[in-house]
Amino acid sequence: MNSTGIFWIREDFRLDKNPALSFATQNHKNVIALYIYNNNDFDNEREAQKWWIFKSLESFKKELLPYKINLEIVKGEELDIFSKITEKDNISIYWNKIYEPDVISKGKKIRDLFIKNKINYKYFKGNILNEFQEVTKNDGTPFKVFTPFWRNAEQVFLNQPQSKNYIIKKRNKNYSFFKKCIKPEDILPKQNWYKKFEKYWEVSENNSKKILKNLIENKIKDYGIARDIPSIEGTSKLSPYIKHGQIHVASIWEKCSKVKSKGIGYRKYINEIGWREFSHSLINYFPEFLKGNFRKEFDKFPWIKNDKFLESWKKGMTGYPIVDAGMRELYETGWMHNRIRMVVGSFLVKHLRITWVEGEKYFRNCLLDFNKANNIAQWQWVAGCGADAAPYFRIFNPILQGEKFDKQGLYVKKWVPELERVPSKFIHKPWEMDIKYQQAIKTIIGKNYPQPIVIHEKARASALEAFQSLKNKN
Ligand SMILES: Cc1cc2nc3c(=O)[nH]c(=O)nc-3n(C[C@H](O)[C@H](O)[C@H](O)COP(=O)(O)OP(=O)(O)OC[C@H]3O[C@@H](n4cnc5c(N)ncnc54)[C@H](O)[C@@H]3O)c2cc1C
Repeated sequence: MNSTGIFWIREDFRLDKNPALSFATQNHKNVIALYIYNNNDFDNEREAQKWWIFKSLESFKKELLPYKINLEIVKGEELDIFSKITEKDNISIYWNKIYEPDVISKGKKIRDLFIKNKINYKYFKGNILNEFQEVTKNDGTPFKVFTPFWRNAEQVFLNQPQSKNYIIKKRNKNYSFFKKCIKPEDILPKQNWYKKFEKYWEVSENNSKKILKNLIENKIKDYGIARDIPSIEGTSKLSPYIKHGQIHVASIWEKCSKVKSKGIGYRKYINEIGWREFSHSLINYFPEFLKGNFRKEFDKFPWIKNDKFLESWKKGMTGYPIVDAGMRELYETGWMHNRIRMVVGSFLVKHLRITWVEGEKYFRNCLLDFNKANNIAQWQWVAGCGADAAPYFRIFNPILQGEKFDKQGLYVKKWVPELERVPSKFIHKPWEMDIKYQQAIKTIIGKNYPQPIVIHEKARASALEAFQSLKNKN
């Protein structure tokens, strides 16, 4: 065993199930964990995730200490940084895969560079159950519909040999290699917005394990129903941990599969992991997904450009309480409940007829769990232009959605406190309260809280008309 092994951290801030890190520690005397902060990946976007990465770096650094592995953070372009490593440095580089087409093509350039410069490297399976090439129809073509995809994918995964226990070996002494390193805090966004996130999240591998344990012991049984109620924590909230690799989806699968009563809750939960697999498969087989409408007929859709409406949507000031609560939850916590993501998404693309691209961009900036595959596939699902998408003509009614999933208005009142005194009967349509009653409870609609920026019935009708015009064009 000689030379130095570099574990290149990308989205895998964990010790468990980390083949690249394990391999480095088993084959090298000196091991360094390297994180490359490439500004271009965050240019005016992913502001919320800068905070999560800062936290991840801080906690992972501590977790690596007992193994005598330094975590070094270098700012710049990956290719520039790696081009400075020479054969004489006697260094090998290891990483786990990320399943995004642009990351894959950058990886290819990096591999070419290593081959040219005679640098040893090896890469491993990433945070996914199946490599996307492993799941295809019998004729070798990719699935475009979720249910058959997932039926097949589950079988492929179950037929795989049990994943190994990737041991991390303690090194004898710490080792440093990179001269110009930055500190985790150098990554933080310029604006203090992120400070609020501290209240809601504890970012560490250990915490992701606790969350999973709590899910299995207390939540999974009722997940089938609870996952749709935004006022309770009925879902796992593991998404930002999965995105940054504090936890591997195979660990989630393994732990969940030990649940004794595998009822509807278990099934529904595992299916959600399946949707993540499906999104990754879609963007890799159909990379054009990342650039625009999967269903090309939507290229002619008559979207409306309305900056005022877009701002009202972003700020949670549309006058529809369930929409506003969701948008404010997102801004405050960096996360939004899945049911509400569907409601706010539908409101943007159908009631306001603003292109889903604007919504996707805003989510990308604000979500701690943003990932290209899920965000783009789900926005296209909402807009009706994706693969296996909700049909465009199915338009969520924000009043009925509120009444069905937030009957008492508990979720709304949590995030839209100016509606605190509104009785549940009116909480999802406060404009219907008699003006005298509004005065009595000191909640004047139009003053303390906005009037609806569009009228549901009219907006619905014009969305359907726009959709019809699209059909006529094709
Ligand atoms: C418009 C829109 C945008 C979205 N953008 C993202 C995004 O950028 N990143 C992201 O991880 N999810 C996204 N989702 C999917 C989903 O809303 C989140 O994964 C979920 O809310 C995360 O909360 P949770 O961890 O408590 O989920 P749980 O219900 O506990 O589900 C467990 C895990 O399954 C996966 N999952 C759950 N629902 C979905 C889904 N519909 N599609 C794909 N994977 C899913 C996630 O990894 C999640 O952590 C989006 C959904 C919509 C409607």
